[in-house]
Amino acid sequence: MIRLLGTLCLAAAAGWLASACPAETPAARPGRPGDPPAAAPAPAGQGSAAPVTQRELMAKLAAVPQQNADRAEKVLQLFKQAGLRNVTRQAVPTRPPGCNILATLPGRTPNVIIVGAHFDHTSTGTGVIDNWTGVACMVGLAQALAKTPPQHTFVFVAFDSEERGQAGSRWYVSQLSAQQKARTTAMVNLECLGISTAKVWLTGSADALEQLAAEVAKKENTPVEFRQLHGVTADANSFMAAGIAAITFDSLDLTDFDLIDSPKDRAEAVRPDRLEQHYRFILKYLQALDEQSGSISAANKDRPAPKPKP
Ligand SMILES: [Zn+2]
Repeated sequence: MIRLLGTLCLAAAAGWLASACPAETPAARPGRPGDPPAAAPAPAGQGSAAPVTQRELMAKLAAVPQQNADRAEKVLQLFKQAGLRNVTRQAVPTRPPGCNILATLPGRTPNVIIVGAHFDHTSTGTGVIDNWTGVACMVGLAQALAKTPPQHTFVFVAFDSEERGQAGSRWYVSQLSAQQKARTTAMVNLECLGISTAKVWLTGSADALEQLAAEVAKKENTPVEFRQLHGVTADANSFMAAGIAAITFDSLDLTDFDLIDSPKDRAEAVRPDRLEQHYRFILKYLQALDEQSGSISAANKDRPAPKPKP
């Protein structure tokens, strides 16, 4: 996430570490929302979306490299290890060049749910909390959902350059056709999990998706807080700006913001029990979202988050 108030975003921009995007082979064209499934999915009703264990989540968390270029390749590797067959790179035309990593899980319909987490981090701290926690959960979600063919086609995207004005997610959205946007039911963004109580950003999230989060939290008896968070932006904003309903989950109390973009952003600050709780809740949320049919409004009655600085 990026805080636009104070000096932190300037420090983040100055400390951005370059990643790279090796050229794709012709056969490895990045999959995009709305593309037909790359492989025929298995019939419905086989297997179940068994969550990964806390130990598996923590192993993914511990696999974090320091350099952004290494992170991109590690996410690609983790997706493949999770059983995703269609894993590709998408070059992001930033200076220096960036690289989104996409993993597509074919569903029973061409309708798409996008799950996103940025993998890049600033040069201060290890960037484990912000945002390898989101990456580890996202890979675990892909691993669980891959066991049962979902209704929607799921596209998991590890975004580059979030810390540079959401450049990776803005590029990704810019490459979607009108038809692909129309087929995208929702985007679910993961930020800074495993710290304090799970949270939904009322600022910059679609009202309908917030409502669903409240329903799932109640059904699963999981504590989830809903809060306004002005002056902070995330990759969900790129989708909301394009009229695609999006929601951001995180777990930072206001006092926890000292942990990110700082040397305090370390694995020791992550609570394994909370990371697992947040992961399991978001898995239930995605399953509930997968049962939705028809479009979801991107309406947001809350004040929109400010645009990132250029
Ligand atoms: Zn972040």
